[in-house]
Order: sequence, then C-alpha cells, then structure tokens
Amino acid sequence: MRLRNITGSRETIGESIFVVHEPKEQKGKWRQLFGNEGPVHIEIGMGKGQFIYGLAARNPQINYVGIEKYSSVLLRAVQKMEAKPLTNLKLIRMEAEEIEEVFDIHEVDKIYLNFSDPWPKDRHAKRRLPSEAFLRRYDTILKPQGDLEFKTDNRDLFDFAVEQLEPAGWRADVITYDLHSDPQLMEGNIMTEYEEKFSSMGNPICKYIIRR
Ligand code: SAH
Repeated sequence: MRLRNITGSRETIGESIFVVHEPKEQKGKWRQLFGNEGPVHIEIGMGKGQFIYGLAARNPQINYVGIEKYSSVLLRAVQKMEAKPLTNLKLIRMEAEEIEEVFDIHEVDKIYLNFSDPWPKDRHAKRRLPSEAFLRRYDTILKPQGDLEFKTDNRDLFDFAVEQLEPAGWRADVITYDLHSDPQLMEGNIMTEYEEKFSSMGNPICKYIIRR
C-alpha cells in the first residue's frame, strides 16, 4: 500500500507518543515498555492499522506492536490512536527485513501477516513476507510454541507461502482457500482494509495458521 505523500506525515509520526521511535533500543525490553508480562503479538505490514487496532481494543491483556514501512500509511494508524488511545498498542515505522534487530530471540508470542505485497517477479521472491527467508527471521523472534497467521486473496502468493513451509521447517495447523465460508474460522475474525475491499469484490480469502 502506498498512499500519496501526505505533507507532514513524517513530522506527525516523529512527534507521536503512539510510535516507538527507536525500536532497536527496545529489543528484549518490549514487556518492560508495556509495563506488564503479557504476551506480545505483532503485525508486519499493518497498513492503516484497522486489524491490529481492532484486536488490541478487543484483547486488553495482550500487547500489540504494529509495523509498517511507509509514513503516509502509518499516519492512518496513528490517527486511530489519537481518536481513541489504547495502552496495549504501539506502532513502529520500519522495514521488516530488520525485525531481528527489534525483537529478541523468542520475544514474540504471535505474528500476523495480512495481504502482504506479492512481489510477483521471481527474482523478488525473497522480499515476500511469507518467504522462506522471512520464515527464518520469524523463527528467531517467535517463541517455540508461537504461531503465525497469514491472510491474502492472492492465490499465487498463498500457494508460494504454503510451498515455503516445509523447507523452512514449519507446518500448517489450518489452511483454507475460502475463509469467509468457514463459520468456525470466521469466529472472531477481524477484517483488514484489504480484506474488506477484496472480499466485497467476490475474491475468496486464503488463510493459514502455521507453527514449527
Ligand atoms: N495489512 C493491511 C495492508 C496490506 S498492504 C491490510 O490487510 O489491509 C501491505 C502493507 O505492508 C503495505 O502497507 C506496505 O507498505 C507494508 N509492507 C510491505 N513490505 C513491508 C516491509 N518489508 N516492512 C514493513 N512493511 C511492509
């Protein structure tokens, strides 16, 4: 997702109390930052933040960190927090490639990926957030018993993501190619912005839940 450059978005984010400005300094100290020993769940590529904000509002006992690389997009999540602050949600502007510099070994209890950029060219496969290269990074920061949930309407990306599991040493607890037709899996489902858009166009939504 790339919004038109919004004047002042970098400045607004730079001053926001909802954004962690030096995330690498928090490595190993996220629970300290939240002031409790609760679990830490992160979303990588959160976009405008509807999903993680909704989760955080619903689950006050869980600490959430939303990660997004573009200021213009992150700004929308900041605005949600300004309108109605939540103490259990922090936002970071960073590139997922640096994730191991921001979270310590096994510091994270759960990872969410939603409608990640497909990077359709073969030579860009390593940039895809559910690629083997990224699964190895998640392996480091995620607790051994932790899991990762991924939703997308992009069938090519999803098929690729499923193929990456075995070589990276992960396995699927759940795989569906039509999430919205599965009442059990839909229980508690929070729609992302892209999920609303693409499911309303009739695209089925794929989802997996994976662990090692
Ligand atoms: N999760 C949202 C947005 C999906 S679009 C939704 O489902 O509606 C994918 C988002 O991931 C974009 O906002 C993009 O800027 C962000 N993103 C892509 N690659 C990223 C990376 N390497 N690090 C951090 N964010 C990334």
